[in-house]
Amino acid sequence: MKAKVDSEIKEHLRGRFAEFIKSKRMRQTPERFAILDKVFEQRVHFDIDELYRDIESEYRVCRATVYNTVELLCECNILRKHYLNENQAAYELSDDRHLHLICLNCGKVREVRDEGFNECFEKMKFRQFKASFISTNIYGLCSSCTRKMKKE
Ligand SMILES: [Zn+2]
Ligand SMILES: [Zn+2]
Repeated sequence: MKAKVDSEIKEHLRGRFAEFIKSKRMRQTPERFAILDKVFEQRVHFDIDELYRDIESEYRVCRATVYNTVELLCECNILRKHYLNENQAAYELSDDRHLHLICLNCGKVREVRDEGFNECFEKMKFRQFKASFISTNIYGLCSSCTRKMKKE
């Protein structure tokens, strides 16, 4: 499954990234934008290796550039970094708020949206801390693993 990102959002995010790079006084290299384009084509969650493999087939970029660019995209809030499985970082576009249901047996990650939870988060206030986003992982067993375990 590919993340659906329409061209209007892409343009908007490209512009935001360009501004951000400029504000950091870094060069706007074509590689950085090629990486951003590839980010739009990824599955909902992806890791650096998946992204690198995908880019490598078309562009000559080094892994460090991919890594740095992804970090920059996190810094300017286009991407979010999550730890979903075995401490491996997974990234996704930060355009919406959802919970991750993670199967302890097969590692499958499902996203769920819960309005009540979102409202609750918006009301939360923390002393001397300004929250920017929340990453919530709920661990358990997916339905197919539950079925398999019943059969065994
Ligand atoms: Zn499972
Ligand atoms: Zn997610």
